[in-house]
Amino acid sequence: MHEAIPTVTLQDGTEIPALGFGTWMMGEDHHARSQEVEAIRLALELGIRVIDTAEMYADGGAERIVGEALQDRREDAYLVSKVLPWNASFDGTIAACRNSLERLQSEYLDLYLLHWRGQHPLAETVAALEALKADGLVRAWGVSNFDVNDMEDLLSETGSENCATNQILYNLSRRGVEFDLLPWCQTRGIPVMAYSPIEQGRILKHPELIHIAKAYQATPAQVALAFLLERDSVIPIPKTANLQRLIENREAVDLDVSDEDWERLDAAFPPPDAKQPLAML
Ligand code: NDP
Repeated sequence: MHEAIPTVTLQDGTEIPALGFGTWMMGEDHHARSQEVEAIRLALELGIRVIDTAEMYADGGAERIVGEALQDRREDAYLVSKVLPWNASFDGTIAACRNSLERLQSEYLDLYLLHWRGQHPLAETVAALEALKADGLVRAWGVSNFDVNDMEDLLSETGSENCATNQILYNLSRRGVEFDLLPWCQTRGIPVMAYSPIEQGRILKHPELIHIAKAYQATPAQVALAFLLERDSVIPIPKTANLQRLIENREAVDLDVSDEDWERLDAAFPPPDAKQPLAML
């Protein structure tokens, strides 16, 4: 018996599981297609309902995989996609969203994000996101890769109080956001989606992480995810197309790391003591 996945409540009152599923690198290789579809369907069965994708991933290929996986179970998922910054004019955002919905075979997105800040004025993008919401094509919208100054600029725009999330690079080896951006978002009730939560696999060879994981008969990936699940209003979205690893990632919720071991991890992956510009991948 596994513990239920903790939940995070968005500003509009929607409750979503605090563990999601990433799809970057999916849809690239047609030999992997059926396994990727199966992984998304298993994620839903495991209660991992937040499925994160983007028009950028495999040039729409990842969205097509997600669409195939959700064909007969769209309502089971909390579906997130993203508009590329160079498409984020008013008309461009509307068109990009419609194209994403077509690939996803869905009538709506639960959440639509500006992938990162680009040249188009935020006011224009926000107006488009609000229009999409009014038309029922998206239920909520947010941003990604926004640092504190970007969030402050955003919040000065009309309609920006509806920003539901900021999706950012955050994991044990990327803790800069703890200095300012994370508390800034938490204070304002804007949950954070933590992308690359296991640093695309690079942190899994860290000796201290391996050592601590062993003590719990857990894996380094589970400890890395537990580190994020432990935090308030943080939703890690690990990607895996491997069914065994997916189950492993789900079981990170069961891990109960002691204060002493968190201190050991702090020593191995020190929290920031000064402002660091927001890192992105
Ligand atoms: P992750 O940190 O999620 O790592 C994914 C890699 O780790 C894959 O190679 C996967 O391989 C492997 N992996 C997953 N679980 C395990 C495990 N338990 N043990 C060992 N290896 C594992 O990196 P991502 O960059 O993919 O980030 C997650 C998601 O965040 C993306 O897929 C995307 O949806 C989103 N994202 C958003 C960005 C943004 O700008 N907003 C930028 C980057 C990512 P395998 O599939 O073979 O298991």
